[in-house]
Amino acid sequence: MRFSKLYAPTTKEAPKDATLPSHQFLVRAGFISQVGSGLYNFLPMGKIVLDKIRAIVKDEMDKTGAQEIQMGVVTPAELWKQSGRYGVFGKELCRLKDRKENEFVLGPTHEEVVVDIVRNRINSYKQLPLHLYQITTKFRDEGRPRFGLLRGREFIMKDGYSFHEDEASMKEEFAVMEETYTKIFNRLGLNFRAVEADSGAIGGSGSKEFMVLADNGEDDIVVCKACSYAANIEAAKRAKRAADQEAPEAEYAKFYTPDTQSIDEVATFFKISPFFTIKSVIKKAIYADKEAIVVFFVRGDDALQETKATNACGALELVDASEDEIKANGLFAGFCGPIKLPEHVEFFIDNELKEEKNLICGANEQDYHLVGVSMFNFKDSRYKDLVEVKQGDRCTCCGGEMYITKGIEVGHIFQLGQKYASAMGATFLDKNGKSQPFYMGCYGIGVSRLVAVMIEASHDENGCIWNKQTAPYLVDVIVSNIKDEAQYDFAQKLYSDLKNFGVEALLDDRTERFGFKMKDFELIGFPYALIVGKGLEEGVVELVERKTLEKKVLQKDEALNIIKELFA
Ligand code: ATP
Ligand code: MG
Repeated sequence: MRFSKLYAPTTKEAPKDATLPSHQFLVRAGFISQVGSGLYNFLPMGKIVLDKIRAIVKDEMDKTGAQEIQMGVVTPAELWKQSGRYGVFGKELCRLKDRKENEFVLGPTHEEVVVDIVRNRINSYKQLPLHLYQITTKFRDEGRPRFGLLRGREFIMKDGYSFHEDEASMKEEFAVMEETYTKIFNRLGLNFRAVEADSGAIGGSGSKEFMVLADNGEDDIVVCKACSYAANIEAAKRAKRAADQEAPEAEYAKFYTPDTQSIDEVATFFKISPFFTIKSVIKKAIYADKEAIVVFFVRGDDALQETKATNACGALELVDASEDEIKANGLFAGFCGPIKLPEHVEFFIDNELKEEKNLICGANEQDYHLVGVSMFNFKDSRYKDLVEVKQGDRCTCCGGEMYITKGIEVGHIFQLGQKYASAMGATFLDKNGKSQPFYMGCYGIGVSRLVAVMIEASHDENGCIWNKQTAPYLVDVIVSNIKDEAQYDFAQKLYSDLKNFGVEALLDDRTERFGFKMKDFELIGFPYALIVGKGLEEGVVELVERKTLEKKVLQKDEALNIIKELFA
């Protein structure tokens, strides 16, 4: 490609809302353009990068025997009603009607449609397992679209769905996908971890996320220093904590404790470690058909993990309860505890408080706390894992110290079980001639998000630094002075030789000044530039590596071979 013909509108200015390097550089270097909130176009170089990533994903998926299909973006609401997700998917689901008032949704994911594809077509276990995947546009009306391609409303996902006769077969495919994703992200040259994850709205049991480690990630991941354990903070487990001081032994009694509402105030008042207090977090739970106050109890020096809490009560979402709502339910903010709660109030207690003694908690009376509290009289179903793992907590697998780091989710694999097939009546005849719903797995990769992730993982203050696997062009042959015929002829010859050899090259034949062309090279971030300038008179050209910006002087006759070797 000749730069003079390439549509790559580069600019000095980044969009005002662009806070992350990938967002700033992809726009400034002319890879993408924005048309609306969370809506982006891929310009020629953006499309090349997207297609390269897509090709790697497709190559590895095809090797496993999965088959590529393409489902429509517009999907009938009827299917979503059958699965039960129409009511619970929330505002991310974009709903629309046609001229005949039929309801549709823009597919945010395609479990329903793919079940409909196999339903009544696969009738026997002999036709299983089957894995169908696609690489297509998704739409989710995200609450906060931001960070450019990292969180768009319209984005491109690889989504695969597998069908199995039993759980063992489903688990086998899950392992194959874990291995396949590992190959894909390794080929892309990314520093990533597969972590234990929460299954979220898609449902089912057992899921892993693939997280690229990056300071600008939106996700917190807990990683063990000693073993391979890693988990999203929403799902992370820890070994039960031991007390940091001797337990304050006391008879069960009610104490007048005016002005002691916070955990710190309670701990100071009783001269004890907050470890021995119980913190109450009062939330309003939003369900598909109702709202209700729910109270969660954790140790005073622990924090409630919202996703765990949401799962514990089966709500769609938790929001803060207002002062009025708290009062109306007979609760006292700052003096709430698990004992003598008003009967109608739903509550859950963290597992680590089970059978603990010598605790202090609110008395459910204004200005009173209880001391000498023991946790023996609650049903097992009240106890859930509710705490957020902290830096320094211990690993459940090996006891090692854990730390917290940031990640960007690039893939997510799920064991769905029979959830969707049961709900949608998709069955087959098993070995014994019995009708059974399919077991399913589903597997996603954020293909357009990966374009941005490549740059989050690799850039400097001047711009993008593409690696060989994903660069729009590998070598930028820059003619320093386009009016110099010798320079121009040599560069053109080198450019066509490189192309003939199969090295994707760009010829910067624009009439711009040399400095301007170098700035574009650095901003766009091709792996190498080959500069044909004044040195040509002495028989030399210059090779610049984008990553290090190091320059090497090459004899003009050896330039072709040296570049060929770089990409052999
Ligand atoms: P997130 O927690 O980041 O919202 P998710 O759990 O909703 O992700 P999945 O439903 O598992 O994501 O979708 C599969 C993949 O699609 C994700 O791993 C991610 O890489 C990508 N993805 C999800 N939402 C977006 C988005 N709004 N923009 C770009 N890519 C996305
Ligand atoms: Mg999401």
